[in-house]
Amino acid sequence: TKESADMLYDMIKLSMGRLIASENELNDLDKESGDGDCGSTLARGAKEILKEIGQNNQPGLPVDTPADLALSLARIVENSMGGSSGALYSLFFTSAAGPLQQDVTGSGWKRALKEGTDTVMRYGGARPGDRTMIDALFAAVTSIDENVSSCPVSVMETAVNAAVLAANSTASMKAQAGRASYVSAERLKNPDPGAVAVTLWLQAILEILKT
Ligand code: ADP
Ligand code: MG
Ligand code: MG
Repeated sequence: TKESADMLYDMIKLSMGRLIASENELNDLDKESGDGDCGSTLARGAKEILKEIGQNNQPGLPVDTPADLALSLARIVENSMGGSSGALYSLFFTSAAGPLQQDVTGSGWKRALKEGTDTVMRYGGARPGDRTMIDALFAAVTSIDENVSSCPVSVMETAVNAAVLAANSTASMKAQAGRASYVSAERLKNPDPGAVAVTLWLQAILEILKT
């Protein structure tokens, strides 16, 4: 519907804005655990997405067809980001498109998030507890799976809280995947940048859902 397309449009704009605003913070986290570019990589992808999103009533990203939207996001991040995040988010969006071909209700979005997360785990090899973006994503998926509420806002709010807790808990995890696995555990004191980034875009989606 027009209404859900407008909402998706706003969700993308706010999510991308938050990632761009957090570029330095995420780079600083990645300086501790990796090569310091996670914020810049995500901000570059976010700016490309904003460039392609179009204006209200102008052609841009296909926000009225969620599966096509997910495939467009996959293409944009694949072409603009690079790095681990670029490859992993491209896989995430490509997989998320599947369930959205059939079902654009809440249960379709729920399956999209789950399939995207499963695919990143399958190809990236990281499991929950390995100190990656998977910690935040998996916590959100699990929370949504276990939630019996029929109110989307409350389901999303609980999921965001779970993701934030999981992202914070990466601070005390030993890294088992990505560049951070080459850094000694004593040097890793702050949360994983990829996990924090997941909480930023989930939080933005929640804020729009609440409007
Ligand atoms: P790069 O190491 O290529 O510079 P980025 O800086 O773009 O990668 O992204 C780093 C983030 O990617 C990490 O903070 C982590 O959350 C995530 N990450 C790295 N490797 C994996 C993996 N195998 N599975 C899931 N997430 C990963
Ligand atoms: Mg990096
Ligand atoms: Mg890099």
